[in-house]
Amino acid sequence: MSAAPTSQAKDLLVRAIAPTDELRIAAAITTEVVREAQRRHQLTPAATVAMGRALTSGLLLATMTKGEERVTLQVVGDGPLGNIVADANAHGDVRGYVKNPRVEGTLGTRPQLEPLVGRHGILNVTRDLGMRDLYQGQVELVTGEIDEDVEAYLRVSEQVPSALSCEVLLDGDGNVVRAGGILVQALPGGQADAITRAQHRLRTGALHVLLMGGDVSARDIAAGLSPSHPVEVLGEDRPVRFQCQCSDERIRATLQLLSASDLDEMIAEGKPAEVTCNFCNQHYEVPVTELGELRSAMKTSLETN
Ligand code: ZN
Repeated sequence: MSAAPTSQAKDLLVRAIAPTDELRIAAAITTEVVREAQRRHQLTPAATVAMGRALTSGLLLATMTKGEERVTLQVVGDGPLGNIVADANAHGDVRGYVKNPRVEGTLGTRPQLEPLVGRHGILNVTRDLGMRDLYQGQVELVTGEIDEDVEAYLRVSEQVPSALSCEVLLDGDGNVVRAGGILVQALPGGQADAITRAQHRLRTGALHVLLMGGDVSARDIAAGLSPSHPVEVLGEDRPVRFQCQCSDERIRATLQLLSASDLDEMIAEGKPAEVTCNFCNQHYEVPVTELGELRSAMKTSLETN
C-alpha cells in the first residue's frame, strides 16, 4: 500500500462573510479529523466518506451560533451502513461513528453514498445550546448524500436558506488525501438567489475541484466559492479535531448506574469490566478491585439514605 500524500494544510475552520452577496460562510479542512475517524473505527473507504461528510457537516453546523453549542447529527437510512452519528461542539471537537464500519461499496468520482446510506430514512438534528435549551429537528432524507440532507434540514427545519457541501478525497488505496466542507447561509434579509447560485456551484463540483487542486486551506475554500466577490474573514481560524469526551472517570460513572446485582455478578466472574466507547472506539477496562470499591460505595450510600 502506498502512503497518502501528506497534506500540509492544517485542520482549521474559518468563518467569513461575503458582503456583496449578503452571505455568511463557514469553511473547514478536516483531513486529519477524517483520518483519525478512519483509524479509530477501521472504516472501509465507503464508510470513511460517509463518516467524513457527517463529521464535517457537524463541525460546520456547530459554528453558526455563539457559545457552548453542541450539535448531534443522526442519519438513519435504510442502506447497509446503518445509523451514522456525528457529535460536534463550538470548540471544534467532533466525534462520531457508523453502525456498520466494514461495509464496502463502489464510489464514483463524486462519491455517491445513496446506495450505502439509503434513500429512505430520516435525519435527526439536536442542537444543545446549554442552559437546558434544546432544539430538535427532523427531516426525511432527500438524497442520502448526507451533506445534501443536512442542507435540506437547514432549509426546511431551521428555515435558513443554506448551501452545504462536504467532501472526502481518497487515494487508490482508500487513504484520505484531503477532506473539507463549506456551509453558506443567507444573512438575515439576504437574497435567496445568492444561495441558489452557491448551491448550483457546489452541486456542480466546486468544492471537489478546489480540494483536487492541491493543498488548499479553509480560507481558500471560503474564498473559492465566489472568486469574483471577496470575502471578509471573521475572527481567528479555529482548529478542529476528532476528540471524544470519554474518560476513565466517565466510564466509572456509567458503571455506577448498574444495579447492585449486576455489579455482584461481574465481581463474581472475577474479570475486569470491559467497556468500549461507541463514539471513538476507545477500549476501557475496570479491574475487579475497583468494581468491588464501587460496590461497597453503593452499600454505604444505601445505608446512609
Ligand atoms: Zn470515546
